[in-house]
Amino acid sequence: MLNLCPSDRSSPASMSELVDNFGREVTYLRMSVTDRCDFRCVYCMSEQMTFLPRPQILSLEELLAIGRAFVGLGVRRIRLTGGEPLVRRNLLWLVERLAQLPGLDELTLTTNGSQLARLAGPLASAGVRRLNISLDTLRPERFRALTRVGELSRVLAGIEAARAAGFERIKLNAVILRHRNDDEVVELVRFARDRALDIAFIEEMPLGQMRQDERALELQPSRAIRTALARHWPLLPTPEETGGPARYYRMPDSDIRVGFISPHSQNFCHSCNRVRLTAAGRLLLCLGQEHSVDLRAIVRQPAGAAALPKAIRGAMAIKPEGHSFDPAGTTQIVRFMNLTGG
Ligand code: SAM
Ligand code: SF4
Repeated sequence: MLNLCPSDRSSPASMSELVDNFGREVTYLRMSVTDRCDFRCVYCMSEQMTFLPRPQILSLEELLAIGRAFVGLGVRRIRLTGGEPLVRRNLLWLVERLAQLPGLDELTLTTNGSQLARLAGPLASAGVRRLNISLDTLRPERFRALTRVGELSRVLAGIEAARAAGFERIKLNAVILRHRNDDEVVELVRFARDRALDIAFIEEMPLGQMRQDERALELQPSRAIRTALARHWPLLPTPEETGGPARYYRMPDSDIRVGFISPHSQNFCHSCNRVRLTAAGRLLLCLGQEHSVDLRAIVRQPAGAAALPKAIRGAMAIKPEGHSFDPAGTTQIVRFMNLTGG
């Protein structure tokens, strides 16, 4: 039986008020709830990270006010991310309230899985419908090397807790780097198949200012991963989408989807429907450009939340046409992924 993804089921588009200069409707907000994290993944952070002073981080109330404003303007999906969203204290307070916003079709969350053994059940009860869990390797030493500090066993226990918690769908996200974990793509798909989890492979993006020896940038193009997988399973392209940049494939003998997010080898900007809010309240109009609006300054003004809709509508005018990552990794956005809200 074919599982329909949530976007297959959603009602015909209720028009968003948020339309940019290229006619793209913005219906999806990714909110970074913290820049902090309990891991230090080599492609995401520098080994010695300086995190933002707490007063610069949006409070939970401010995050809720901004989420409410976006949903009022027609955003239908919110994804909570970070940093590691599950290290934000009292996150469930925010989750419960966002999930109940009238007009929001779906609240989802991306996590490294380290806290899921404790939080998977409460998150599902609070209204998170789908979960993305990052998992780049199934080998403990390699996991430690890629995350610098993480323990694979905790993440695997978190994945099991999430499976038991009754989410509609769980997707694994794997960043694949040449010479680091590109030899594991078949094992990762096998792991996903055995547990009925979707899996997406992500090409590394050159975000954050890292020393050249720190950056793992050894791009493994999606095409090479597909070729490796196709030796084991026929991969059938499917037009399904989850409202994001992933291209999906299915296998004849499994219900899971295998996705590829390929910012380098397949530009997806023409259909971009999303914007990002950093933990410090900067509204980023594109992952790969610096165009932004400071919503923290607005929500902290005396007029507060009342001033948000106008500012958000206005921001659409500066959403750029597309990113400009190039495969040589020479285009560098001086903004770490944990700040960006990956
Ligand atoms: N901490 C959570 C996690 O790791 O899932 C959520 C935040 S993390 C920034 C979101 C996603 O971005 C993860 O799947 C991570 O692997 C991915 N990511 C981080 N840095 C990246 C980079 N430079 N290029 C591509 N993906 C990256
Ligand atoms: Fe933390 Fe996620 Fe970045 Fe890894 S990818 S350092 S888990 S925020």
